[in-house]
Amino acid sequence: MESVLVSACLQGVPCRFDGRGKASGAVTAAIGDRRPVAFCPEVSAGLTTPRRPAEIVGGDGHDVLDGRARVVDDTGHDVTDEFVDGAERALAAARRTGCTEALLMARSPSCGRGTVYDGTFTGELRDGDGVTAALLERNGISVRPAPRD
Ligand code: SF4
Repeated sequence: MESVLVSACLQGVPCRFDGRGKASGAVTAAIGDRRPVAFCPEVSAGLTTPRRPAEIVGGDGHDVLDGRARVVDDTGHDVTDEFVDGAERALAAARRTGCTEALLMARSPSCGRGTVYDGTFTGELRDGDGVTAALLERNGISVRPAPRD
């Protein structure tokens, strides 16, 4: 059976920064008859739940991977290393389970695809990918932003 990597929070796992999950019927429909591999990059890297919200400052996930941008939380604490570590763990999980596609949570600094928060903690968005989405895409795994209910 084909497998698809899915942001764990979209499968109802309470791993978001606010300690909640966000199970989605639209995501379940998008998974279809494939086997979902639920994964949370941030928790896999050892970040606690709940945790301070974080955003990418100075670019998007690609810029983080290239050393041109950082991930910081809303107290100014730098969590770049944890976000890159989580992305590498997500890639390893995808490879281990044979996933060629990922369905990831929109706008997240890890999982966002195409749009992420802009680093000002004001709710503003910018074009770009989260760190995990960027690393998966660079390694041939097709990342789709999760559909909304
Ligand atoms: Fe969900 Fe991804 Fe954030 Fe984990 S890192 S809580 S899977 S959006």
